[in-house]
Amino acid sequence: MSFKSLGLSEPILKAISKKGYETPSPIQAKAIPPVLEGKDVLASAQTGTGKTAGFTLPLLHLLSENPKEKYRPIRALILTPTRELAAQVYANVKEYSEFLNIRGAVIFGGVNQKPQAATIRQGVDVLVATPGRLIDLESQGLLSLKRVEIFVLDEADRMLDMGFLRDIERVMKLMPSKRQNLMFSATFSKDIKKLAYSILNNPVQVEATPENTAVEVIDQKVYRVAKGKKTDLIIKLISDGNWKQVLVFTRTKHGANKLCKKMISSGITAAAIHGNKSQGARTKALAGFKNGSVRVLVATDIAARGLDIPLLPHVINFELPNISEDYVHRIGRTGRAGASGEAISLVSADETTYLRDIEKLINMKIDVTIVEGFEPDPNASTEPIKPGQNRNQNRGRSNNRNSSSRNSGNNKSSNKSNSRNRSRNNDSRR
Ligand code: AMP
Repeated sequence: MSFKSLGLSEPILKAISKKGYETPSPIQAKAIPPVLEGKDVLASAQTGTGKTAGFTLPLLHLLSENPKEKYRPIRALILTPTRELAAQVYANVKEYSEFLNIRGAVIFGGVNQKPQAATIRQGVDVLVATPGRLIDLESQGLLSLKRVEIFVLDEADRMLDMGFLRDIERVMKLMPSKRQNLMFSATFSKDIKKLAYSILNNPVQVEATPENTAVEVIDQKVYRVAKGKKTDLIIKLISDGNWKQVLVFTRTKHGANKLCKKMISSGITAAAIHGNKSQGARTKALAGFKNGSVRVLVATDIAARGLDIPLLPHVINFELPNISEDYVHRIGRTGRAGASGEAISLVSADETTYLRDIEKLINMKIDVTIVEGFEPDPNASTEPIKPGQNRNQNRGRSNNRNSSSRNSGNNKSSNKSNSRNRSRNNDSRR
């Protein structure tokens, strides 16, 4: 199987070869042909599978087949949940379209809208956007989606987790009803299927290698530890192992900040990345982590979603996620492109249920280690952290207009839903 045999045009093949890709990844091999045929596609794939090229390459091919107009309307819209993912997808659009006469642009919140509006005014063929800023600019009359031919909804499951359902529905109404739709999601809950049904017409369904296969190549460990000793233990593990690049997950933004400060005062360079950080701070933290000047990046699930950091050797769960699928996403960051990695979870008594759920999902028992001096507290309750506790803390801190309003929408749906929805109460904390 080669990119050429998939039917992509010469300028695109040239860009692919410049990137150094030799063969299409499984999701690319499966998704590219139906997209080129103009069909709607529903793809099950997470970051790391090569999904971005899976939709970007055929999209660029289709757009470049039709002659451009002098005035360039937005002909393709790629909607992503986070700013980081939007920036990454845009970087790919730029690389893959290097030898085509196609213009791309990216818009997201947290930065000045003026340069974004100015770029769009000059004409853009492919727009990558997060929902909030897209709707903002559209409602100000600074962009129009009336000529969109191809719509891509990337990481649809995370979109719903972040409370973007109503925004997605709004965006859909701004586009012509006759268009090609591509939807990518790592998981397929009932809500995702419902969304897919409302967006896609008779879609071709494609799937990347099941997630659990990737899990098997990652060396996973659980350290049972008293809750109050987690910070000291993580600092010891990183220092003793002399680890140079560690991605640490915490459940809350506050937890990420606190842990980051502790690391720094112990002489470990660290930066936090989460929804309350400005775009500048997030970009700087990520750049420092990639170039090695920051050893530890402490992230919440939502902020880390979509980060493409290749060959990450160590991922540590400072706290286990309460959605088991998030565990698979988190540790999947060590096993990119076939490279092996180590995933460590610090587990206190109140996370026992989460651990059990995760082991059920990945269908394997994870080896448990106890470090002398950091033993678990035998008297601690194994009762999981109650969602109610989260909600209270949430209210106290929800001074972010966007996240609090989106959350209120979520909380409504979580009343009648399962454990996956339960976690959405935490969203403004992540
Ligand atoms: P994605 O899942 O789209 O975030 O891609 C994950 C990583 O795989 C990115 O660093 C891509 O540049 C890389 N990648 C995508 N397609 C291929 C391919 N066919 N061969 C090798 N690397 C690829």
